[in-house]
Amino acid sequence: MSLRVKYWGVRGSLPSSPTPEQWVTDFEGLLRQFFKLGYKDATEIKDFLQHHSVPQIGGFGTATTSVEVSTPQAQIIIDGGSGIRNLGEEMMKGPAAKGKAIIHIFLTHFHWDHLLGLPFFAPHFVKGNQIHYYAIQPELKDMIKVKFSKPFFPVPFEQLSAHLEFHQLEPRKPIMIGDMKITPYQLDHPDPCWGYRIENEGKVYAHCVDTEGTRTSREALGPDLPLYQGVDLMYYDAQYTLPELAEKANWGHSAAQLGLDLALREGIRHVLFAHHDPGATTSQILELKAQTREYYDWKIKTASANNIQLPQVKWRYAHEGLTIDLVNL
Ligand SMILES: [Zn+2]
Ligand SMILES: [Zn+2]
Repeated sequence: MSLRVKYWGVRGSLPSSPTPEQWVTDFEGLLRQFFKLGYKDATEIKDFLQHHSVPQIGGFGTATTSVEVSTPQAQIIIDGGSGIRNLGEEMMKGPAAKGKAIIHIFLTHFHWDHLLGLPFFAPHFVKGNQIHYYAIQPELKDMIKVKFSKPFFPVPFEQLSAHLEFHQLEPRKPIMIGDMKITPYQLDHPDPCWGYRIENEGKVYAHCVDTEGTRTSREALGPDLPLYQGVDLMYYDAQYTLPELAEKANWGHSAAQLGLDLALREGIRHVLFAHHDPGATTSQILELKAQTREYYDWKIKTASANNIQLPQVKWRYAHEGLTIDLVNL
């Protein structure tokens, strides 16, 4: 087994849950679907659920970006959005509860949605735990200190029980955490954001959130092109529709169609679309997925009409809790 990636938060900008009214509407829709498909009684509920995807039943999740990347020998966390809280709770079932954990947290940038879960990451409050933070940006330590300062948070940085260390990364220079090779590359985002290429046993994960995808050629990408080459799984920012992308130029987020163009050009095997807009309901994200399907089919059809062979790209929309073993892709 090589790389495993687990998504603890896939929303962008702000945690966002459906309103109670929306839950009621969604629930009514599911009940209608149950009877429309010919199901009649409670013994058939399990079968009904199994024939629907997790997002069709439970939506895409509410928490913002936090991603766990692991091998049997090593583990890192990318970003501390609100999703890191549940990851912390999970870690507290193991060595982190006894102060015996060594934790590595890589940050992409300091926008709120990527940091707001950090004060609620329980291993911070256990003596003996070692928490290593990594980022390109030299202000890393100051940014974390702000998160643990009054009046924003009651426990000041100096009183955290865990031992914290800060490591400044160099652009495009790999470092090793256990058997994982991690290389930062710059994405297209204001207040610069750095993605990560993570390699282990010949498998490659590219973490590309947040990005607007404004550099659309190999030449424009220049030194950051390797982030997208020879990749098995790319996690890509697809917050907007194409018309929204035009309206919200320079906001730093992209659309799935740009991610597909990139994947088709570079032969990326599998793409996960994420950083879902906080205002997007489950049905709106499912509609985005349908538009992405149309675009992908159109690209393949147009290419084959012109006798151009495009590589096959598999893609899906990420939901909270999704776990992918790269060896199974
Ligand atoms: Zn973000
Ligand atoms: Zn951002």
